[in-house]
Amino acid sequence: MTAEIICVGTELLLGDIVNTNAQFLSRELAELGISVLHQHVIGDNPARLEELVRQAKSRSDLLIFSGGLGPTEDDLTKETVAAAFEDTLHFDEAEWQKILDFFARTNRRPTPNNRKQAMVPTRGCKLENAHGTAPGAWFEDGGCAAALMPGVPREMKAMWAEQVRPRLLAKQNCTIHSKTLRVLGGESSIASKAAALFDGENPTAAIYCKTGESEIRVTARAADAAAAERLCDEKLAQFREVLGPNAYDVDVPGLEYTVVRLLVENHLTAATAESCTGGLVAEKLTNVPGSSEVFGFGFVTYAEAAKTRLLGVSPELIEQYNVVSAPVAVAMARGALEVSGADLAIGITGIAGPGGALPDKPVGTVYLAGENRRTGAGWVQRLELGGYHDRAIIRTRAALYALDLFRRMALGLAPENAVPTTAAEPAEHYVF
Ligand code: ATP
Ligand code: MG
Repeated sequence: MTAEIICVGTELLLGDIVNTNAQFLSRELAELGISVLHQHVIGDNPARLEELVRQAKSRSDLLIFSGGLGPTEDDLTKETVAAAFEDTLHFDEAEWQKILDFFARTNRRPTPNNRKQAMVPTRGCKLENAHGTAPGAWFEDGGCAAALMPGVPREMKAMWAEQVRPRLLAKQNCTIHSKTLRVLGGESSIASKAAALFDGENPTAAIYCKTGESEIRVTARAADAAAAERLCDEKLAQFREVLGPNAYDVDVPGLEYTVVRLLVENHLTAATAESCTGGLVAEKLTNVPGSSEVFGFGFVTYAEAAKTRLLGVSPELIEQYNVVSAPVAVAMARGALEVSGADLAIGITGIAGPGGALPDKPVGTVYLAGENRRTGAGWVQRLELGGYHDRAIIRTRAALYALDLFRRMALGLAPENAVPTTAAEPAEHYVF
């Protein structure tokens, strides 16, 4: 099925408002496996609208409108589309009563113009507006369907979900199911590994970028819900196979949820020792309901003295290797493990910028260490997050790496590009 989106409103053409409706509708239609061939923005002008509707109707199966349903003289969208679809409009007593009730509730009087909003299709049908006064309209003619919805985004979205989407699903004789896979890493690295998996119409797969990670949304259509879900799961399995452990979970709000779940499942407790992230890792973990079961100690040791006093990091070690160094990150993690009695701990120290760069350590250099009491294993890695030149992004990405280190320790997976450490080994062995 092919579709065109037509957004009506002079304010859109003037640049007074951003066309968020088009973005929403494009994404929704793509999920239904409907190809959007064009997005149009058109002013409140019946002659130009008529020309566009005739053209679009002759080449596409579905026209989705937003805006132009208002009560003013120049809102002629419904009349224009009705004519193009060989339909007429008639006055609907029930809709008029709803409009009168609405005005009475808000202590206002309807104008004669408001009667226009109670006009509904004769061959087609009206679309209920649960969140506003003007009903939408649905027309069909010669194998083409048109849905007219209000411009106000809240009303449009409700009408889409309650009236239009179900009609389109019924037309396609199917149900739909979506799942979202979360993957560490940027869009380009994912696209280079999994490019071929984004082809195909059922299931569809789309990628959305976040800071330091991406979401892959897979949507399948099938005759029944179970079959659609099965199609989703098959596609997700293919993604997981090519993306490996960087694909960390399905349908979760963020990595911290996965970490807390894994800690609970594996009966592990965790502690954090943070410098450059200033408690961001702890903040994320404690955002997850139920995290108190697995997380009890978060140290923010921003000053060198705090690292020494709270975590027992020796001043000589800091003096010798610099506070931003692998040995200090390891000492912080070991200190957190010791003081908290937790099973896992991370230590994180780095240069978030914009100042503070060292000759061999540019802004964005972060050392991240992890210690696992149960296995005795430890890891330290040097991250270079400075390409982003933004303090907030460097800190967010550093926190994401720290959460991933917890995830990998809980799963018994070695972190990527990390050096193993043991208590027996002298610190100079992992200076890098
Ligand atoms: P109304 O009865 O309010 O006139 P309408 O269906 O005629 O409703 P418009 O007048 O086109 O809708 O738009 C009403 C408001 O909805 C606009 O002022 C704008 O804030 C918002 N809006 C309209 N179209 C869009 C769009 N494409 N994207 C985002 N917001 C929109
Ligand atoms: Mg209007």
